[in-house]
Amino acid sequence: MFEDKRVLELLEKYRALWALGYSMSLMGWDSETYMPRESVFERAVASAELSLLSRRLLLNDIAPMVDMLRDAEGLNDYERGVVRVLSREIDRIRKIPERVQYELAKLRQEASKVWREARPRGDFGAFKPYLSRIVELTREVAEHVGYEEHPYDALLDFYEEGLRDRDVDSIFTSIVPTIRKVLDEALSVGRFPKSHPLESVAYTRESMEAVNREILDILGFPWSRGRLDVSAHPFTSGIGLRDVRITTRYEGVDFRRSMFAVIHEFGHALYDLQVDEGLAMTPLARGASLGVHESQSRFWENIIGRSLEFTRLVKPILDKHLEFTRGYSEEELYKYFNIVRPSLIRVDADEVTYNLHIYLRYKLERLMVAGEVKVDELPELWDNMMDELLGLRPGNPSEGVMQDIHWSIAYIGYFPTYTLGNIIAAQIKATIEKKLARLSDIIEANKLGDLKVFLREHIHKYGATYPPKQLLEKSLGEPVNTEYFNKYLEEKIRG
Ligand code: MG
Repeated sequence: MFEDKRVLELLEKYRALWALGYSMSLMGWDSETYMPRESVFERAVASAELSLLSRRLLLNDIAPMVDMLRDAEGLNDYERGVVRVLSREIDRIRKIPERVQYELAKLRQEASKVWREARPRGDFGAFKPYLSRIVELTREVAEHVGYEEHPYDALLDFYEEGLRDRDVDSIFTSIVPTIRKVLDEALSVGRFPKSHPLESVAYTRESMEAVNREILDILGFPWSRGRLDVSAHPFTSGIGLRDVRITTRYEGVDFRRSMFAVIHEFGHALYDLQVDEGLAMTPLARGASLGVHESQSRFWENIIGRSLEFTRLVKPILDKHLEFTRGYSEEELYKYFNIVRPSLIRVDADEVTYNLHIYLRYKLERLMVAGEVKVDELPELWDNMMDELLGLRPGNPSEGVMQDIHWSIAYIGYFPTYTLGNIIAAQIKATIEKKLARLSDIIEANKLGDLKVFLREHIHKYGATYPPKQLLEKSLGEPVNTEYFNKYLEEKIRG
């Protein structure tokens, strides 16, 4: 994969930076799972110091070598990928003052601790000063990084290379009317119910963990290269290509939440696990972007996981460990998995309403970043928009403006990648059906392995070699196209 001598030298130098990233991922995983609560302030300092160390290593040791290679001729795709990925990081970090980076790294840890404690009480007042400072610093970052049209562009590009505010706007312009139409139909015609008795049935953590592990077995999760743990918010941590960890949660009731979190995170994990081994410990050993990453989790969670055929595959596992599912048919379970109901909480949202939650956040983030709204005004604005989009009003900031962790860790510009993921997932389904077979037939025949090979060969193995737009054109034959998502949603709801 790598032959150019200069690139090989660069990769050797890069290894120290990789090792720091590796340690920071492990610390990140730890702080969400097993870290003692009171260790947070030491951890904040340790994280901020390591992030500074990375910065210096990148700027002092790596940047000069990368600068020499920026216009180098005769590099292959992988070598060019390395130079591109590192150039992006270097350019960004050169523009952000060290003071800003340090303060943000430290603030993230502190603000998320405050958010965690204040959220259950809905105490926006306690969180507000932290969020204000995060918004100030984020705006400063956007100004330092620079943009052509809107400061939000500078933030989007960090999570999704090449994504602009204009693109996000046209995505929502295309999907929001379809979603509203489909939602009206879903609520009136009712192929899927608005609620289901299984939502209130209690389960034990032991039984549900057994279910999750067996589902991961049929998905083919490699236990020697991964783990399943518990965290408040499920996530995947790709520490290395041979160490990819996922989490879920056990609330003790409404078991589909725990189960679909596992399938979602499996999709993320599979991406990290199927990057070509030759890219291990290089800057390319990661997904092409957050949007492409989320497309993998959404593909497995919604398109595979919430299908009738997959429901049939998992039914015996559920009946074995949960018992209370035995009295429900496959069709009944399928309905339970696909309840459509406007709700206040994004992570509980169904396939139809989910992107409206993102649309709301996108609108508010743009205003924040442009300085057109004060943090004080956010709760009220949030509630009004929620009312307008979904006809619901949060009774408390904990089910409104304070529900997500993202702003507390300064992830502003991140949300749109979730919608992008949903759209790309529908495109992947269409491509598979064009090139392989009908997805329902593949799942019915329990040939999930064929899907994994397809995803590996078309998307996963390249890691971050290509920018997301280029990867999509290469693997799916066209750039982001919302038509497939609109069609998927209409078909699913109409049946
Ligand atoms: Mg995800």
